[in-house]
Amino acid sequence: MKNSTSLTPEALQDCINLATGLFAPLTGFMKASDYRGVTDKMQLTSGEPWTIPISLDVDPETYRLSQHVPRLYLRYQDREIGFIEIADCYQVDIAADTIKVFNTGDLAHPGVAREHSRQPYRVGGKVVITEPQVQEGALTPEKTRNFFKAQGWKSVAGFQTRNPVHKAHEYLQRVALETCDGLFINPLVGWKKAGDFSETAVVNGYRAMLDEYYCGLRVHLDTLKTPMRYAGPREAIFHAIIRRNLGCSHFIIGRDHAGVGDYYGKYEAHDLARKLMAKHDLGITLLLLKEPFYCHKCEQIVSDNTCAHPHSERESISGTKIRAMLAQDQRPGERLMRKEVADAIISLKQHKFITE
Ligand SMILES: [Zn+2]
Repeated sequence: MKNSTSLTPEALQDCINLATGLFAPLTGFMKASDYRGVTDKMQLTSGEPWTIPISLDVDPETYRLSQHVPRLYLRYQDREIGFIEIADCYQVDIAADTIKVFNTGDLAHPGVAREHSRQPYRVGGKVVITEPQVQEGALTPEKTRNFFKAQGWKSVAGFQTRNPVHKAHEYLQRVALETCDGLFINPLVGWKKAGDFSETAVVNGYRAMLDEYYCGLRVHLDTLKTPMRYAGPREAIFHAIIRRNLGCSHFIIGRDHAGVGDYYGKYEAHDLARKLMAKHDLGITLLLLKEPFYCHKCEQIVSDNTCAHPHSERESISGTKIRAMLAQDQRPGERLMRKEVADAIISLKQHKFITE
């Protein structure tokens, strides 16, 4: 019997991202040594920084077979799309590892719950894709690097998001455009938890923004397919490494990057970024930006760095409030979100959010 495994859409996406160099220096699923280096010390065995484990889980029978053969063939929807050159088979302790990576073992955390739904049996090794069609249209480092080069952009700021653009995002993006040649808006559209904005809502909102406000500016929009992990600080660094691979020179980390609920401190990702930057050359400059808010005295969007008026003058640009208003087909108001962006989302009716 051929040693093979059936891939979930997320595992297939990992294979594509490994094969295209999006996850460089990784070229395959992690071996035990890299996996444990990442969970315990946030670094690969080569010494390079890496914060999120990338591993393939298989059923017990495949795990047993994989210890005796050189290849694990990969199937997606009953088609063979490639194989893994098996370098290692190992078991992980999901409960202990999620506490290390997510800083919590709480099953109410969507990233932790997702890890607990996986098998503890892992197969590591280089991914080889033999069906090029599965990679068609994928976001690749080659594609974005060529684009930035053709535009003549020597410095490019990457912007990660899973939400439609609001005024605080716009502020951060304009700050980046003041100092960088280009801005790469790169919404994540892989697996997200139920209740998050849909890919269409995020992308349509951004198209409206580009048409009406960023038209003629040095702004590039494309989507990134990889699951959200909601791992906060560690995921912020992971997001930065991906954008480095895509050719960005700078990456914006704002308030509670990749966070969910109250699991991470507002600027915990900034703290981890500073710690890692002191130890490693990440190959990308991290722009650690404070949360923008509207100040009634300044009559504009500002941050702690540009406004010291009392908190009573402040109006926060709350993603929760914006979400609740859009859910009821209401424009959140121009201080929070551009009306063209709001309308692009409201027009989607029941397809604004991810349902399960
Ligand atoms: Zn002010």
